[in-house]
Amino acid sequence: MKEKGAPEQISSETAIKPGQDEMKCSICWKYLYRCMTLSPCMHNFCSFCLSKYLDGNYWRLICPACRGEIQSCSKNLLLNQLISSQKNSTPELQISEEEKEIRDERDMLLKGAKLKKYNNRSVYFGFFKDGKREGKGKLMDSWRSEYEGEFKNDKFEGQGDYNYSSGNRYSGEWKNGRKNAFGEFTFVNGERYKGEWRNDFAHGSGEYLYVDGGKYKGEFKEGQIEGQGEQSYANGDEYKGGFKHNRKEGFGEYTFANGRKEVGEWKDNVFYGNMAVNCGKSDNEKKQREALWSTDIRLL
Ligand SMILES: [Zn+2]
Ligand SMILES: [Zn+2]
Repeated sequence: MKEKGAPEQISSETAIKPGQDEMKCSICWKYLYRCMTLSPCMHNFCSFCLSKYLDGNYWRLICPACRGEIQSCSKNLLLNQLISSQKNSTPELQISEEEKEIRDERDMLLKGAKLKKYNNRSVYFGFFKDGKREGKGKLMDSWRSEYEGEFKNDKFEGQGDYNYSSGNRYSGEWKNGRKNAFGEFTFVNGERYKGEWRNDFAHGSGEYLYVDGGKYKGEFKEGQIEGQGEQSYANGDEYKGGFKHNRKEGFGEYTFANGRKEVGEWKDNVFYGNMAVNCGKSDNEKKQREALWSTDIRLL
């Protein structure tokens, strides 16, 4: 007896009779509809069934029937023809016209999506234009980081989600392979940046949420807090004013949770008030204040 799910290889000489396993898809177990054949194992599937399978498993590059490696998949026009010319005797194995329509609508392979493995061992399933990735697709690299979204000219461009193997993730806009325009980056520990990007850096206006509940809202420059912004701390303190390299700089107002305020000039996270910067503070006091107001962030 032939094992279910592992039909034998078909050749043009094979006699096909209705009801034979060769005519059935080993994913949906109905008569093959728009038959696709995997190489080198030669297993057959409906185009829609294979498309759905690849959408979730493309990076494995293994046949769903025999677990053998997929090197290519192609339309099997001959088998298609043979099946449609048969009077398929088992009605429950037939696919209704209505279902065919639904399948065609969702079938990525039918619409031209392709599976490709690159030399750097990344795997892509999606659309191409002139041999380059273009349109929607998914790309998984050998580290299991995955991008799902739009491509243009072989690069990430448009809307896309990137799930890093580290657990970090980015969801937003891309241009020329880099995070650009607007997006949200979430670190595996829950820390989050939402805002504008330029060439992979937080740049423009945005919001950074710290894992302890603190929050910064304001301007960013090349991945750092720089410009005007407002910071609220987990302990209830708040600061509103200038920043540079993630530190308070320029004019700012610091309000302690108990209501006390310090208003004036800041430099390198140290409060000088209306005193001239760089005088009147001992090194020790500067250090203490720096520690108190440290606003380290890390952004890719
Ligand atoms: Zn099927
Ligand atoms: Zn196979």
